[in-house]
Amino acid sequence: LPSPRWILALDVGGTNMSAALFAEDESEPVCLRRRATPVEEGPEGVVDAGVGLLAAVREAGTREGVDPRRIVGVGAGVPGAVEATRGTVFLAPNLGWRDVPVREYLLERLDLPVVVDNDANCAALGEWWAGAGRGSELMVCVTLGTGIGGGIVREGRILRGVTGAAGEIGHVTIEIDGRPCGCGNHGCVEAYASGRAIARRAREGLETAGDSFVASLVDGDPARITAETVAQAARDGDGYALELLGETARYLGAALAGLVNVLNPDRIVLAGGVTEAGGPLLDPLRAEIRKRAFAASAEACVVAAAREPRLAGLRGAALNFRREVLEGDR
Ligand SMILES: [Zn+2]
Repeated sequence: LPSPRWILALDVGGTNMSAALFAEDESEPVCLRRRATPVEEGPEGVVDAGVGLLAAVREAGTREGVDPRRIVGVGAGVPGAVEATRGTVFLAPNLGWRDVPVREYLLERLDLPVVVDNDANCAALGEWWAGAGRGSELMVCVTLGTGIGGGIVREGRILRGVTGAAGEIGHVTIEIDGRPCGCGNHGCVEAYASGRAIARRAREGLETAGDSFVASLVDGDPARITAETVAQAARDGDGYALELLGETARYLGAALAGLVNVLNPDRIVLAGGVTEAGGPLLDPLRAEIRKRAFAASAEACVVAAAREPRLAGLRGAALNFRREVLEGDR
């Protein structure tokens, strides 16, 4: 038997980043490394950190018997709107990046073929490959992080649109004259239901919230409230936190009901720290979609939490490399 070919994967998030090594047909990584994203060091600093992680993974793989000559390339997922052919991030509001040629940076430093795509597209593809999207014909994946990312996977391939920016679900308008959004528009769902927006709404309402234990989870310091604090309090039955998640579900549900009507998907998968709240977010979200979308389309669409959100981005980045380079897709 020929020894397998190996793919390096890199997943850059706004807070953390990770790298792993995959055999080309295996969805389980053999080596995995994580670290904080050094956002303050700018795009080159972040890419250098990524190169360091990839080198560490490559070394660890070699110690476990991987032939380094069989490592054939790098798949990377990065935040923001990506022009996939050139691998350039043209806008990543949450990192403050504009026109960053990530693929070029990586090519210069790695001497391997590199495929770059949006992190949410990669997470969607990863959940389709080995997560809650398995077997789906047409799935929508929504990542509730600092912002709201989205990816659409049709028959196992990322739907990119003509400039590579398809799937930006966070920037669906749900309020005509609504809150300002990082993209320059007003009233995007991201301005209401992203992790950052959930935390802000939690802080804004805290004084009038009555006896909520959200405040005690952050030692009375509202500045420390995150979406995860809200999710944790909701899991423990806190009324204020449940109300906040219910409201979040209605905002998200309005945007997703529109997508259900437009695309008629069989699956919506939700990833990101907040979704660990489970039922308190997912139940009202399902109800909102049922309320707003065509009955038959809503009926045909399963709404589920991602199975392995921490691995999905890496998996998808590796599979994306296989699709684009090894299968000669482009
Ligand atoms: Zn927006």
